[in-house]
Amino acid sequence: RDEELLGLCLLPGETLDGVRVHLRGNVELTEELPLALRHGAEGVGLFRSEFLYLNRSAPPGEEEQLSAYRAVLEAMAPQPVTIRSLDLGGDKLAPEINISDELNPALGLRAVRFSLKERRLFKTQLRAIFRASAFGQARLMLPMISGVAELWACRELCEEVKAELTAEGVAYDPGLPIGIMIEIPSAALIADLLAREVDFFSVGTNDLIQYFLAVDRGNEHVAYLYEPLHPAILRALRLICQAARAASIPVGMCGEMASDPLYTLVLLGLGFDELSMNPPSIPRVKEVLRQVRRSEGEDLLEQLLTLPTASEINRCLEDEMTRRF
Ligand code: PEP
Ligand code: MG
Repeated sequence: RDEELLGLCLLPGETLDGVRVHLRGNVELTEELPLALRHGAEGVGLFRSEFLYLNRSAPPGEEEQLSAYRAVLEAMAPQPVTIRSLDLGGDKLAPEINISDELNPALGLRAVRFSLKERRLFKTQLRAIFRASAFGQARLMLPMISGVAELWACRELCEEVKAELTAEGVAYDPGLPIGIMIEIPSAALIADLLAREVDFFSVGTNDLIQYFLAVDRGNEHVAYLYEPLHPAILRALRLICQAARAASIPVGMCGEMASDPLYTLVLLGLGFDELSMNPPSIPRVKEVLRQVRRSEGEDLLEQLLTLPTASEINRCLEDEMTRRF
């Protein structure tokens, strides 16, 4: 069975009716790249750069980051690698680098908020990412964007970095795509406004579900309320995908929800162009993808959107998937 699944690795992520959905890997350390390649990852959809910053007393400098990003890009070439800028804070703490005594860390100074406050640190990272873009298909992704102004502030810094590198005569890709994670309800609701300003979206369901449903993603006492199929989540995903389509930008998903083959047909129906996940999940998702048509996903989605609770949606989806597979 495992052999059979691994045999799928050489085949593209494509539906029966020829819709391409890129299946990519979520990667935290460069050591994981061979695993991603072995499972047929078509590039890296989420490189969690914060892992370079954990368990050390000082943040990594520009050269160290450059060599880490370059290694990922070269290993995956010619496939793209989406490097996410620092997402420290919340449940990812580096006590020597960021603050760790917030009352509500998930709502605190995390991710891009922290980066925009520590501008020198952010600029060092951006310089390393832009420089690395000379060595492969890099994309820059900003985490925890909550509104357009925050995005503009980041873009301004990117422009500064580009001007500096140009003045220094250092190589970089001037067309480096800049995208954002959609993982905060405010961003989901203004996805149309954000879509005009960026090159791609990637939905972070781990946080999106946490913030939409007000359920701590790591709290076992409320884990029963953490429902990826809550009608509010399906509606939010639809809104995000519609906004991306209207602006003609690609939309991916890099939260855990992307890795469960139970959801693959629905995500196809929503219109996702990319699903990024822990690499060993790729073959199972691809197996489903290659046996369905987008219109089937769209019909199923319409049906699910009429149901009032996550349990009913879940039951309907499970029945449908068991009937098919
Ligand atoms: C997410 O929030 O879904 C996500 C992919 O990011 P992280 O799990 O690193 O917060
Ligand atoms: Mg997140």
